[in-house]
Amino acid sequence: MTTLPPPPAIGCRTVPVLRERGQREVFCGLTGIIWLHRKMQDAFFLVVGSRTCAHLLQAAAGVMIFAEPRFGTAILEEKDLAGLADANAELDREVARLLARRPDIRQLFLVGSCPSEVIKLDLHRAAERLSAIHAPHVRVLNYSGSGIETTFTQGEDACLAAMVPVLPEANGKELLVVGALPDVVEDQVLDLLAKLGVGPVRCLPARRSADLPSIGPETRFILAQPFLGDTHAALIRRGAQHIAAPFPFGAEGTTRWLAAVAAEWGVSADRFADVTDAPRARAERAVAQVAERLRGKSVFFLPDSQLELPLARFLARECGMRAVEIGTPYLHAEIMGPELDLIAAGPTISEGQDVDLQLDRVRAARPDLTVCGLGLANPLESEGLSTKWAIELVFTPIHLYEQAADLASLFARPLRRRALLGAAREAAE
Ligand code: SF4
Repeated sequence: MTTLPPPPAIGCRTVPVLRERGQREVFCGLTGIIWLHRKMQDAFFLVVGSRTCAHLLQAAAGVMIFAEPRFGTAILEEKDLAGLADANAELDREVARLLARRPDIRQLFLVGSCPSEVIKLDLHRAAERLSAIHAPHVRVLNYSGSGIETTFTQGEDACLAAMVPVLPEANGKELLVVGALPDVVEDQVLDLLAKLGVGPVRCLPARRSADLPSIGPETRFILAQPFLGDTHAALIRRGAQHIAAPFPFGAEGTTRWLAAVAAEWGVSADRFADVTDAPRARAERAVAQVAERLRGKSVFFLPDSQLELPLARFLARECGMRAVEIGTPYLHAEIMGPELDLIAAGPTISEGQDVDLQLDRVRAARPDLTVCGLGLANPLESEGLSTKWAIELVFTPIHLYEQAADLASLFARPLRRRALLGAAREAAE
């Protein structure tokens, strides 16, 4: 029989949320291409944008690409502003050249960006036109990664939401795991679900377009990533049913996530315990070792990746940290409800950002650790505060039992570094 620590007597689901709408400091949704292009092996992401967009992708991807690049930028020069017909013809030529050179491409995403000349282009219509030209070999879809509309993890959400309407119709009960996971982690998910007897299981996004899932009223879906609000809505519109659960971060989160699926598939308590007890106990032991450095420390999350609430829950319940404020760019009540239930009332829950006001609160609280975007980390470090880059949490495998201790280590490292620096400074004085 699996027993888990009970939820707190008073959770955060009903606490008042501090809502702020001001200047924000986050990357744009183009960033998602960095992990999506590695996941979807026969897809190509063509950013329709400016040189700034190309530089962002090159700078962000430069250190992270291990595969043949599956993205590029069609740069719309200012001279194209004069005529949208020209811009459309240029886009068609660019796509034709690309597909002639790369016959391995089966899905092409036209990714919109901020420049005004791009906003004026109807990329949805362009995708339909290009799909008609290049079908059936290639399907062309579009979504926006513009910094005006999206924060950095919303690019994945927009991409997956664009795929949902064109997925084939399913009839039969299937589980859909939604959200891009590194292949090694996805394999662990599939292995655990197979041992539980849950199936058939499909993933969105799929590694190859031939494996794309079908959707229907019997489809049950569970989110593996918390930033997929639009995809969630698109799946509901297709009649699929959402399995609400905490996210699979840490031993507890993973167990509760699997338990929600197991309940839907009628898995017996004994079988569930047989499958999960051993990896869960291993994860708990491994986390406990790392948590020594975290216990009793305070943490402040600035809104960035939309992973903030699940990670704060993990740090509070499994690592003994105290959250001062948990900021998230968007708070989706249904998706985050199970997480809010597990976070004991106390921290400020904030949605959106007014960066100066929020930095004032960070300075007043002087937390032991601040989780924030790259642009804010250096100034805070120079004020003597330890920081963790939120973006690193998205690029590192952190889901499930096997990665639980690595996840805790990501937060322990900056504290260790500061402790070492402090010791070195004392020794020098
Ligand atoms: S989409 Fe907008 S915010 Fe993102 S790199 Fe391009 S211009 Fe900058």
